Amino acid sequence: MSGQTLFSMLRRKLDRSRGGDAISDRVRRILVRTLYTQPTSLAVGAINGIVSTSIAAWMVDDPVFTGFVIFFGLIGVARFVMASRLSPDNQANTTRKLVLLYEAGAFSYAFLYGAIAALTLLYQPGPEVEILIVANALCYGIGVAARNAGAPIIANGQLILTFLPVLIACLAIGSLPLVVLAITMVLVAPAMASITHNVHRVLRESIAAAETSEQLARKMETLAHTDVVTGLTNRAGLNHLLVEALMAVPADKMLAMFWLDLDRFKEVNDLLGHQTGDRVLMETAARLNAVMPEGAIIARFGGDEFTIVCEVAERRVAERLASEVHAELMRPIRIDGDRLEIGASIGVALLPEDGTDADTLMQNADLALYHAKVNGRKQTRFYDNSMSRNLARKREIEAELRAAIQKDELSIFFQPIVDLETGRIKTFEALVRWFHPEKGELRPDEFIPVAEDSGLIVTLGNWITVQAARAAAQWPDDVTIAVNLSPLQIKAPGASLGIVNALREAKLAPERLELEVTESLFLDDSEATEAFISELAAKGVRFALDDFGTGYSSLGYIQKYPFSKVKIDRSFVSGPDVGKKTEAIIRAVAEMGAQLDMSIVAEGLETIEQVQAVREAGCTLGQGYYFSRAVPDYLAAMLLAQERENDEALRQVG
Ligand code: C2E
Ligand code: CA
Ligand code: CA
Repeated sequence: MSGQTLFSMLRRKLDRSRGGDAISDRVRRILVRTLYTQPTSLAVGAINGIVSTSIAAWMVDDPVFTGFVIFFGLIGVARFVMASRLSPDNQANTTRKLVLLYEAGAFSYAFLYGAIAALTLLYQPGPEVEILIVANALCYGIGVAARNAGAPIIANGQLILTFLPVLIACLAIGSLPLVVLAITMVLVAPAMASITHNVHRVLRESIAAAETSEQLARKMETLAHTDVVTGLTNRAGLNHLLVEALMAVPADKMLAMFWLDLDRFKEVNDLLGHQTGDRVLMETAARLNAVMPEGAIIARFGGDEFTIVCEVAERRVAERLASEVHAELMRPIRIDGDRLEIGASIGVALLPEDGTDADTLMQNADLALYHAKVNGRKQTRFYDNSMSRNLARKREIEAELRAAIQKDELSIFFQPIVDLETGRIKTFEALVRWFHPEKGELRPDEFIPVAEDSGLIVTLGNWITVQAARAAAQWPDDVTIAVNLSPLQIKAPGASLGIVNALREAKLAPERLELEVTESLFLDDSEATEAFISELAAKGVRFALDDFGTGYSSLGYIQKYPFSKVKIDRSFVSGPDVGKKTEAIIRAVAEMGAQLDMSIVAEGLETIEQVQAVREAGCTLGQGYYFSRAVPDYLAAMLLAQERENDEALRQVG
């Protein structure tokens, strides 16, 4: 073996035992820490060494010996002091420095131990002292090999440095027992080295495994708190961070919670696919990150909802931030050449003004967002107390409404829709009424939105359709019944089946049922709507477009769906804005109706002048208090009977 290869082999071995291979710095540090963990064992070693060698020095009575002992004592004390002072926890002490210092102390101490033992053998002060010192030295060499297994180079070095002088002395003396002792030491040394090596490997592996699993646990925790699409904090992470933020907010500051909802996300997601949807979310996250100050918690709460929590000095700062965020999200997003106008609604609540705990704050920010959305979206609303009052009232109504359906407090009234040429009733519109035992008569405008919010509208809507169809089945065949449908009711699973069952139960021909829908129905989820309309239209059920002129008034819907009727909203007939313009609009709509073979109904007719005006404008049908309010079923039947009587009378006269 050449010198070069022996040297490089030694280097490699040394490096490995110093921990220079795959072990991370942290693992190495932990191993070095084991050297410093028990300074008391060093103290015990030092005291034992000093006491026993002092005994030897006293018995040998030679100044060389005494000098050795003093030197030995000094190093022992110095090592103990160093081990108790230098903390491996202090990052200023580099791993290398700690190792070097320890090495210096350990090697010199081990060598002195060995040297004193060798000297004792050579001086031969008597068997007891020799046994004491030599046994001490050998025990020490073997003991440290185990203690310092965290750093095998030190352990092995110490073993060799204690053994070698003794070994040389034994051979120098040359007596049979000592030669055998020397041979024993030669055999023990590699065995100890191998034990040290094994202990070191086991130590290193278990520390590395512990490190890995700790890292894995940290990674899992981060993952569990992160939204995969945007990289923002997710709901779980937000809950966690919010608690911390609440505790950290200084007394002179506020915490603002912004709750955001992308207005047209669902549409984009459905029309352009989830990939585009994901990119919209990512872009939104990037914009929020750019606009919010450092330290703000930005989270994706799920779907298209985002939450931001941020410390602010005063309300005005929150207002400014809200408007900046809003402006940022109203900017169109460009994706693959598509220009998407998504827009957002924002609800804001402040701590401590609007709530002092996380739940209340979130609830109120959500409530503010709800108000922003019902007010036509694309808005920012700050929470105020009236929102909670409205919510409380809504909850009350919701609970009572559930009971009311069971207790028969609801009934259906019927308002005639009249042929403006002949004055005859062509249709009755079914309008639901709630006679509350304490609150009196409640209008649908008050409780239909509550029913929609709570999902109760499906049950309620089906019940209304059945009642209306039953009443209509009693009327002459040429009179139809119009029922209002809420968009939510139509989107519920099995919606068309509900209508078909109602018709079957009431034994009413599908042609005599007319369903009134508003344009808000077409704003999203066109598939379910399309299926609903086409299934029922195929059975003969008719459709009317209600409140025309108040929504988007897109002629596209009229062209796409089989409407047989368009109802012009009453604000065009009797509202404060009625004038030349509204008259022109009514005329244009009536013209369109004539061309497309649709009846045009004017709603809200209260005076004879209004009736004449809409008739002149070309409307074919009219509805309003001028003809009749909505009446109970028996009165509706009476109105029809009267009509027939008049017919009869006229025929007789004729
Ligand atoms: P709508 O479908 O536009 O119904 C017409 C509303 O105008 C009715 O109010 C009716 O009483 C009122 N009205 C009729 N003629 C006149 C008039 O000459 N002047 C004035 N000022 N008002 C007139 P109502 O019954 O309070 O219903 C309000 C809304 O509630 C309805 O508007 C409809 O959207 C909804 N609604 C009523 N019943 C139902 C129902 O059974 N199901 C669903 N989903 N919605 C319903
Ligand atoms: Ca209606
Ligand atoms: Ca209407």
